Amino acid sequence: MGKIVDGTFHTFNPWWGCTKVSAGCKHCYAEALAIRYGQDLWGPKAPRRLMSDDNWRKPLRWNSDARLLGIRHQVFCASMADVFDLEAPEGQLERLWRLIRVTPYLDWMLLTKRPQRIADSLPADWGNGYPNVALGTTVEDSRVVGRVAILTAVPAHERFLSVEPLIGPIDDLPLLGIDWIFGGAESGPYARPMKQEWADSIRRQCDEAGVRCSFKGGSFDRRQHREPSRARVPQDRQLALFDAP
Ligand code: SF4
Repeated sequence: MGKIVDGTFHTFNPWWGCTKVSAGCKHCYAEALAIRYGQDLWGPKAPRRLMSDDNWRKPLRWNSDARLLGIRHQVFCASMADVFDLEAPEGQLERLWRLIRVTPYLDWMLLTKRPQRIADSLPADWGNGYPNVALGTTVEDSRVVGRVAILTAVPAHERFLSVEPLIGPIDDLPLLGIDWIFGGAESGPYARPMKQEWADSIRRQCDEAGVRCSFKGGSFDRRQHREPSRARVPQDRQLALFDAP
């Protein structure tokens, strides 16, 4: 397996649709985008949208490209769904695991707001984690900080946190077992402002724990407006700028 990462970044969606689970979901851009496409896919009773075979073939092409170049490409999964959604369409998560197994030149980032569902959703041969999969969870404020312990209890090659949209202070982030963090303010017309001190606190906690950290801009509280500095994000994660799940 190659070790070089050239910054190529893809997004893969195994299906569309989800159910809101916490305050971070309030302005879910994925739901808004689906509605714009005329698709009613959100909620426990709404059917999810299945994706075409052509969509499922894309990662095979990315993997071939990366293999030919002797590099690795990153894949964020998913921007229009939550991989561990209770209402995931039947068979599609298993299909995703099969795809991940046959794309060893892709580094898959699986982000969820449902870490409690990961352990029961892993494939039988997961062992200590697939070497090309990083598992992550979103922590948008201190009310859902318990997600971190659930995530770190799952064996994984790499783990990450998304503190985006950061909508409240998190001063007690447990970082043992976490490899890197990215975060940012909410965007969009109804964005809830992020205070600079919230981002500073997380950066400080990451510094102390030796965890890589990156923040992107967005809607800051104007009373203390100051652009967030570009952090020491791992080069290979710099393009990881997304909002859902
Ligand atoms: S896609 Fe993400 S942000 Fe949107 S409802 Fe699902 S978990 Fe929440």
